[in-house]
Amino acid sequence: MTTEIIAEPTGFAALGISGQLLKATHAAGYTEPKPIQLQAIPAQLQGRDVLGIAQTGSGKTAAFALPILSKIIGLGTRRRPRTARALILAPTRELAVQIEDTIKTLAKGAHVSTALVLGGVSRSSQVKRIAPGVDFLVATPGRLTDLVREKDLILSETTWLVLDEADRMLDMGFINDVRRIAKATHPARQTALFSATMPDEIADLAKGLLHDPVRVEVAPQGTTATEIKQGVILARLKQKRQILSKMLKDEETMRSVIVFARTKHGADRVTRDLERDGFEAAVIHGNKSQNARQKALNGFRDGSVRILVATDIAARGIDVPGISHVVNFDLPDEAESYVHRIGRTGRNGQDGTAITMVDPAENAKLKQVERIIRMKLPVLADHLAEADPQPKPRQSNGSTKQQNSADRLKAANDRQPSQDNKRDSKRAAPKGRPRKASNTNRHWPEKANAPRPAGERMPDGTKSRKFNRRPRKAAAHVA
Ligand code: AMP
Repeated sequence: MTTEIIAEPTGFAALGISGQLLKATHAAGYTEPKPIQLQAIPAQLQGRDVLGIAQTGSGKTAAFALPILSKIIGLGTRRRPRTARALILAPTRELAVQIEDTIKTLAKGAHVSTALVLGGVSRSSQVKRIAPGVDFLVATPGRLTDLVREKDLILSETTWLVLDEADRMLDMGFINDVRRIAKATHPARQTALFSATMPDEIADLAKGLLHDPVRVEVAPQGTTATEIKQGVILARLKQKRQILSKMLKDEETMRSVIVFARTKHGADRVTRDLERDGFEAAVIHGNKSQNARQKALNGFRDGSVRILVATDIAARGIDVPGISHVVNFDLPDEAESYVHRIGRTGRNGQDGTAITMVDPAENAKLKQVERIIRMKLPVLADHLAEADPQPKPRQSNGSTKQQNSADRLKAANDRQPSQDNKRDSKRAAPKGRPRKASNTNRHWPEKANAPRPAGERMPDGTKSRKFNRRPRKAAAHVA
């Protein structure tokens, strides 16, 4: 008698993924399921709703795509016109493109159709694409709402709904669109909601949309990946350009760098300055056309562009392997964005470095970031003393006029302002109001809301017209 040994399924097979999907998963290089996949895939295969607290990079796309694909493959290819079986909502066009790519990769060899619905690109080609009906529709809320309103898309047959980066959709003002879209889908749908953070509004949304969900969480809120080395460089805004250019000269270390700026205008300025300093850099922000954004991202992804300058539009969702450094040219308005920004590096177990340049006026924002990541960021370099040299004590021991002017000349030469610094120094502190020399420790010499001299450049690149006595109001989200 022979005993047949039947091997227990392992990896994705053990989660209930089978056949063609298992092959495609292996071909994509997914050998072992990630923690979020271990938790979310079996639950969804059993028909459960899922509330996932996870960031991009955790493997959440496959965590929701594989169970839906498993079920859709069994349904055959007959679809009703202008319908979508599964709808994935994402906050940004880049994330939507990325999600569709992943779905296509995982669906390789299976007869599954996908479509993208995004603003900023031709509407008619999207209408044409969904006319026969599709299995997966990946969409941003704005254009989707438009297509539903015009009856180019019918959602009543949609039985799978995924909301990805829900907190980001909230930030971008999409929350009411999301509620309306969800309401238009099939009442007996299966729903998954993923969010990196869980503010009250998202908890409320989840309560309304999910039925008895399985909660899966892969990283505690606000924590940053351990592979990322983090630190700050203390510098005045006027010094930042020079410091950035100097850092970027080290091409061997800084192989692939994303530089975050707080505003679109700021991102353009940083890009222009980098180009003037001889670097090739691509820029991505909300004022760029979809084609320009995708071109910039593709160049960065395929390595033909080493430096990508971005607003927070690229802080979440973008998964470009091998980003060696994230440089925060300035701190984001929302501390949580810091976590998302730096999460672009140190992915898939690789090393990553996040460097944040901090002007004294950004001290309050830095404190908020440190509170949220629950650590004090080490100071990698402090350039403040160079920006504001200590006034030389008056010489009372009979020094000659000649000596004094020689000293002054030397001090001026030592300062050697760059073109940019010259520009900024024209707007330096008004006469008769000497600036305090900066301390070199972490206790800032000035409070974030301390009066700023007229004409000095604020961290966001704007000029202050007068002494600002009150803290500036946080600007609206600009990405
Ligand atoms: P996501 O969070 O879905 O954007 O995924 C982040 C990255 O992880 C993507 O590059 C995926 O291709 C990759 N990934 C997802 N699941 C796995 C897995 N099980 N094994 C290896 N890589 C994975």
